[in-house]
Amino acid sequence: MVIDEILAYNERFVQQNRLPIIGHTPRKRMAIVTCMDCRLVQMFEQALGLERGDVLLGVREIAVIGHTQCGLARADPNVLIASMQALGVDPQPLIERAGPKSWIGAFDDVHVNVKEVVNVIRNSPYLPKIPVHGLVIDIETGKLEIVERG
Ligand SMILES: [Zn+2]
Repeated sequence: MVIDEILAYNERFVQQNRLPIIGHTPRKRMAIVTCMDCRLVQMFEQALGLERGDVLLGVREIAVIGHTQCGLARADPNVLIASMQALGVDPQPLIERAGPKSWIGAFDDVHVNVKEVVNVIRNSPYLPKIPVHGLVIDIETGKLEIVERG
């Protein structure tokens, strides 16, 4: 199983490496909301000039960063439903809870999606009124485009 490979690698990693001590308060006082696309791993930090411990909670700014070629852009809910059902998962409760169109979070235009997420965060009664920026990063070049400046 993959978990055994990960555990074996991790055992070697902790024997060979000492991680720097990093406080839990983010140095740049910024939270970044982005996609879980695996192509963003490592490229994202390099493209934004960030290091471990720079961004997290306890923030004074938020950046919503969408990316080009996102898998959720124009995602077909019927394909996802079929995949879930093939794996024995019933998506119906999720569809009923979130709505027939938005239950997978699909969108047609990443710029519009970023603006919508920025507005959701800005209008949240649970978050302080701090700058919320919207950006799109090019998955191939790492170039950031500002969509909304908070
Ligand atoms: Zn994505």
